[in-house]
Amino acid sequence: AAGLQRASALISTTPDFPAPGVLFRDVTPLLADPRVYREVLDAMAEPFCADDGAPGFDLVAGIEARGFVMAGGLAAASGTGVLPIRKAGKLPNPQVTVEYGLEYAEAAVESSGDLTGARVLLVDDVLATGGTLRAAHTVVERLGGTVVGSAVILELEELKGRTIVPACHTVFTV
Ligand code: IMP
Repeated sequence: AAGLQRASALISTTPDFPAPGVLFRDVTPLLADPRVYREVLDAMAEPFCADDGAPGFDLVAGIEARGFVMAGGLAAASGTGVLPIRKAGKLPNPQVTVEYGLEYAEAAVESSGDLTGARVLLVDDVLATGGTLRAAHTVVERLGGTVVGSAVILELEELKGRTIVPACHTVFTV
């Protein structure tokens, strides 16, 4: 847990990015610290694993782009696979597209694959308004998968994402 104690100090805060009035949190420095990265990944997965460490999921769905870094690490550590959930326009023939509203814009997430019978853990770096994770949840269900839960490193409490992603597991909250 020494790594976890150091972790929150490695999340940087930048005012007025990407728009005036927005306080941007960046987890990137945390990823470069081997012990912190590993302990944060373990903390994300912990509620979704049995006492002996066996994962209660078959696939980790990461949301582009920082969610990919969480998903790859978690999947490799748990012996599971990765489902990349892409931002709109990156895939030639996405099987599923789910649109959602952001504060000032429209966005969409997309993916493909047959997830029949797969138990899927959804991961991202930050839970803000919750729109992205909720849309990713819909993507997984439309591909035939079952979402076992979602996990992020950091929840921005005042944006109230928890109201639409109620069971999201978070390592840190500000
Ligand atoms: P939401 O859909 O409003 O919950 O926004 C979450 C998505 O936007 C995630 O994919 C995050 O990576 C990104 N995001 C929102 N706010 C921040 C932030 O302060 N720092 C980093 N990413 C953010």
